[in-house]
Amino acid sequence: MEKMEKNKKKFNLGIIGAGPAGLSASIYASRYNISHIIIGQLLGGQISETHSLDNYPGIEDISGFEFSQKLGRHAKKYGVQIISQKVRKIKKEEAFFRIILENKEEIITKFILLATGTKRRKLNVKGEEKFLGKGVSYCATCDGFFYKEKNVGVIGGGNSAVVSALYLADICNKVCIIYRGEKLRSEPFWIEKIQKNPKIEIIFENNVKEFLGKEKLEKIILEKPYQGEREINLEGVFVEIGSYPEISYASDLGIISDEEGYIKIQKNGETNVSRVFSAGDITNGSNKFRQVVTAVAEGAIATEGIFEQMEKQK
Ligand SMILES: Cc1cc2nc3c(=O)[nH]c(=O)nc-3n(C[C@H](O)[C@H](O)[C@H](O)COP(=O)(O)OP(=O)(O)OC[C@H]3O[C@@H](n4cnc5c(N)ncnc54)[C@H](O)[C@@H]3O)c2cc1C
Repeated sequence: MEKMEKNKKKFNLGIIGAGPAGLSASIYASRYNISHIIIGQLLGGQISETHSLDNYPGIEDISGFEFSQKLGRHAKKYGVQIISQKVRKIKKEEAFFRIILENKEEIITKFILLATGTKRRKLNVKGEEKFLGKGVSYCATCDGFFYKEKNVGVIGGGNSAVVSALYLADICNKVCIIYRGEKLRSEPFWIEKIQKNPKIEIIFENNVKEFLGKEKLEKIILEKPYQGEREINLEGVFVEIGSYPEISYASDLGIISDEEGYIKIQKNGETNVSRVFSAGDITNGSNKFRQVVTAVAEGAIATEGIFEQMEKQK
């Protein structure tokens, strides 16, 4: 057993998540000389799949992908190893944590930083699974080009739906935003752009009931309360109805979350579990304002908190 443990990678800190929070935490950890590793499936996280980032102070109008690459390069510059794997489980064993990866590799660390962001919410309506990749998508930037000059829909009314619709309007013939509310919940800056775009139509107060087609998506059925159903012909539909935290991989740790499932953190990023910190979209921090600027800030704060605790333990 001891011999097996000797072969395992050991670090002072294991950062789970390679998005803005995890990468920012790594930059600070390197500068504090904390030996650490990042385990994250998607380099750059959610923003890497976003058309444009236009509200990060000091960087004007950059694509989400380019921003992610820059952030990744910055972290790697200090020598951190990034493993592109899914974390299956984290187990707490007296003085350390055992991080078990999808490929069964195990990594041993003294501290943990959970920065795995959120997962896209699904509509959970008939046909959604069947047409996944055949007309239904959760990422306009990734899949929008497959619908060049076609008629597409975007489901949702928040910032991500509105930004996706603007991106798709540059590529597609027509974009229809379908939202169950009576007015968009996006920043006024984006709403103005939507209103000025002749390719974009908005259908309010309608729910999607079903996706229909033979091999590929051909149409969707909408339902308006008290007014019945109607069909719209669309070849592509992008579901942008928000996100939720998913931390089942850390379920053995006994972490306390809020009523919506976001990890409760203290001012220094610490959770209720000793030596487990958290940062970014997955937490209830930053007044629940989930943006790149808050994720990178939380990553930095948590690393500082970890450093302070490491110093005390010396
Ligand atoms: C469409 C869209 C547009 C957006 N536009 C903007 C914008 O214009 N401006 C802005 O500031 N913010 C924007 N955001 C929000 C921004 O993307 C997030 O606030 C930010 O990415 C949060 O960073 P994070 O590091 O906390 O999480 P994420 O970016 O979600 O990164 C999570 C990381 O954890 C990894 N991960 C998840 N689970 C596991 C696991 N089990 N094992 C290993 N790795 C795992 C992921 O692969 C990823 O690397 C947008 C979001 C979306 C969806």
